[in-house]
Amino acid sequence: MSLGGYAGRVGHVDLTSRTVDYRPIPEEWARKYVGGRGLGVRYVYEAGPAIDPLSPENPLCFMNGPLTGSEATMSGRLAVVTKSPLTGTVTDSHQGGWTAARLRWAGFDALIFTGRANGPVYAVVENGKVEIRDASDLWGKGAHETIQILRERHGGDDISVEAIGQAGENLVKFSAWMNENDRAAGRGGTGCVGGSKNLKAIVIKAARNYPRAANRDEWKEAHRAALGKIMDESTITSPRKGGLSLYGTNMLMNVSNTIGALGARNSQETHFDNAEKLSGEYVKETILIHDPTCHACPVACKKEVEVTDGPYKVKMESVEYEPAWSLGANCGNDDINSVAFMIDMTNDLGLDAIEIGQALSAMMEATQREYIPASEGLAWGARDDMIETIREVAFRRGKGARLADGIDPFVKSLGHPELAMTVKGQATPAYDPRGLKGMGLGYATSNRGACHLRGYSPASELGVIGLKTDPLAWEGKGELLKLLQDIHAFSDSLDLCKFSAFAEGPEEYAEQYRVMVGLDKFDMNDALTTGERIYNLERHYNNQAGFREGSDYLPRRFTDEPSNSQGSMGQVCELDKMLIEYYDVRGWKDGVVPDEKLRELAVL
Ligand code: SF4
Repeated sequence: MSLGGYAGRVGHVDLTSRTVDYRPIPEEWARKYVGGRGLGVRYVYEAGPAIDPLSPENPLCFMNGPLTGSEATMSGRLAVVTKSPLTGTVTDSHQGGWTAARLRWAGFDALIFTGRANGPVYAVVENGKVEIRDASDLWGKGAHETIQILRERHGGDDISVEAIGQAGENLVKFSAWMNENDRAAGRGGTGCVGGSKNLKAIVIKAARNYPRAANRDEWKEAHRAALGKIMDESTITSPRKGGLSLYGTNMLMNVSNTIGALGARNSQETHFDNAEKLSGEYVKETILIHDPTCHACPVACKKEVEVTDGPYKVKMESVEYEPAWSLGANCGNDDINSVAFMIDMTNDLGLDAIEIGQALSAMMEATQREYIPASEGLAWGARDDMIETIREVAFRRGKGARLADGIDPFVKSLGHPELAMTVKGQATPAYDPRGLKGMGLGYATSNRGACHLRGYSPASELGVIGLKTDPLAWEGKGELLKLLQDIHAFSDSLDLCKFSAFAEGPEEYAEQYRVMVGLDKFDMNDALTTGERIYNLERHYNNQAGFREGSDYLPRRFTDEPSNSQGSMGQVCELDKMLIEYYDVRGWKDGVVPDEKLRELAVL
């Protein structure tokens, strides 16, 4: 390949035959889809959108980007890309830590697993080779113990381990891949796909070995300019000064609550009285012990905590905003110690922390409304019952078994689909779209089911970035979401941490990419066009998989039931109006990409 920056090697692992084929990325794909999310989707597309997600043919792709493992700030993200067993869409889920960097240092742009081993296996990646080993002794163990055993077995400091927990083994449809114990590729059920292939873990051994930019003279300046944005004291990323660095993502708990955008009790309310006791500020005052970070990141947004007294003793990282909300306010639980305990347990079992909290809250509302008897349900804030049910979900037993295939099948079995706070089968995250309307459009039009990260509109609606918008206005949100979705599709393909977008923009992304791979010209407009191409490829895949007109929707609670709290009182999310504007700027026909748009963007 003539592009610089890449390792030039993808390990194609057939688990059925336990053989590995090493090939470079097709150059045309690298130029059009970059890496990480975009390139992963292109590999998944190749297997065909009609594929059964749990069939051996569904590719499970662990993807780096061309900046991964370099000096580029926040360049330690790994994208796990596959067809989702939860949603039936293509999905990508990203995790931090050092696994992505180490995979790059070991000489790989990606690992792509197909087939199904005839028994439990794990992969060992070292010196440009992949070996498949027996994992019979690891099957049945949690992610934490699996990671510890494999670290001891394969030794040394220069090691990262990815693992699924029991949830993935038991094909729970929202199970995750974990690394560094608590860094999750949580969304979309990528761990379930691993379980279906009998793939328990991946060990990667490699010492630090920064990839060198193709244009070395210009790299220093591109890196310095991007780092300068992250370090700027006026941004929330500013180390030890900005909100993200001081409190982690959970700086958002009090903010969302104040503006009436914090869903509580399965989003029956838009405010939670005791949210302050779940907040990043409260965590910092009470149980915070350390601020860990990821490869090449001075922000250190991870928040390690320790609970030393009471029934919920735990030491773990990290109490993030999403799980603190999903297992806290969303379930009527105001006890941060129990939330930390449950997040740790969720990580060990290998479950998506957003999805499990939303599944529990759907069961709680069903119990409240007497759609199921109390003996088969859950009460709001019943912490110890929540803990027991989470474990039951991972092992598909007891009442938890009813939640293991996702929220939609559970509430449909009750005859009450209105209890599902989901889009395309995936649970909505921690932003109530009656108080942050752009997020409603983002949930509805996300290509992987409800997602806050496709085009993170609160960055604009809460005034974090220069492009500021009114959180309660629907006008202009179609254009805003398209822009943000395209930017994030590009940065997810580099693959940089989401939070870089609080300080950097498409100019910095484009310039770092240009000098790393060695192009004469690639500017912010090229970055936006590339992001748009990736977004349209995902949409085209989903269209072919059966998601057509009417597939971009919201739970009716958000569009029909007015907000009942200060900040957003009386508001609903005007999705229909925003969709008209959005489809217009996208050039789509009711959610379907026309052939002329595919040709215009050179999608295929
Ligand atoms: S901002 Fe947080 S999640 Fe992102 S790279 Fe830094 S420490 Fe990791």
